[in-house]
Amino acid sequence: MRILLVEDDPPLGDGLCVGLRQSGHTVDWVRDGEAADLALKTEDFDLLVLDLGLPRLSGMEVLRRLRRRGQTLPVLILTARDATEDKVQGLDAGADDFLVKPIDIDELAARARALARRSAGHASPLHCLGDLEIDPAARLVRLNGEAVELSGREFALLLTLAEHAGRALTRAQLEAALYGWQDEPESNAIEVHVHHLRRKLGAERIRTLRGIGYLLPKP
Ligand code: CA
Repeated sequence: MRILLVEDDPPLGDGLCVGLRQSGHTVDWVRDGEAADLALKTEDFDLLVLDLGLPRLSGMEVLRRLRRRGQTLPVLILTARDATEDKVQGLDAGADDFLVKPIDIDELAARARALARRSAGHASPLHCLGDLEIDPAARLVRLNGEAVELSGREFALLLTLAEHAGRALTRAQLEAALYGWQDEPESNAIEVHVHHLRRKLGAERIRTLRGIGYLLPKP
């Protein structure tokens, strides 16, 4: 999942970045509201983690502009302890959930997974596609009940395809989901990961739609 993190406090932002990356997410971090607004207008993210007290443009204003543009990505706001008014205003302005500082990284990761699941329309924490089972929380993949070893990127690619099962995703969409601004992928990176996934999960698992992209069929 590709996450935009908006937090102006360097140690906190750094800690959240590291923690979310360790949970297997791609994280882009910006430190003020203007930069967040621009990033949201120009790039696709699966989740916005938004501090409210920000320089240049408040988190609340970032949120209002996002919803006014009709963008539906899930938003989790970070609020100070006792800031009940912030929580209410934030939820009313279109946030999906909030976390109170100090942030517990495991709780943030769990809530991020729950929001991603809900926005993809799954109530269950597992993706079951016939004989293939993907557990995002445990980062486990089972084929016919047998665990399959995948690299971090392979897992992220498979999960992205599973979250959109039955729909084709373009290479650019997959690259955006797997890579943040810091790491520029090799031009054939997605093809290479798909090749490895097919070797591990069966050649027919992931379909190539010529000129369009890749698709994980629904069983
Ligand atoms: Ca702040």
